[in-house]
Amino acid sequence: MRVTAVATDYDEVRSDVKESQDHSLQALQSANAPDARSVVRELDEADAFDDALVPGGEFVSEELVVQVIPQAQDEFTCYSCFLVRHRSQLAREKNGHAYCIDCEG
Ligand SMILES: [Zn+2]
Repeated sequence: MRVTAVATDYDEVRSDVKESQDHSLQALQSANAPDARSVVRELDEADAFDDALVPGGEFVSEELVVQVIPQAQDEFTCYSCFLVRHRSQLAREKNGHAYCIDCEG
């Protein structure tokens, strides 16, 4: 019964999120809504933020792995979790990128 209570909490949170998304959609679809423009402007800013972050973020994190983490001959850097692993934990190599057993399951 305790497990069911936890699952119910989860559902409540998710339905709250869905409702707020529905409200945003309704505001966008209704031209007469007084705050429709502010909602659109917020969405535009969020998109611009994503565009600026994603490409640069990936590049920087790749550089950090190469420069900061000392990598010995018998070690590799997992391309999924970016942790340095011992060679014995290498599960797969694809397109020159190594993946550890934790990420490959
Ligand atoms: Zn990994």
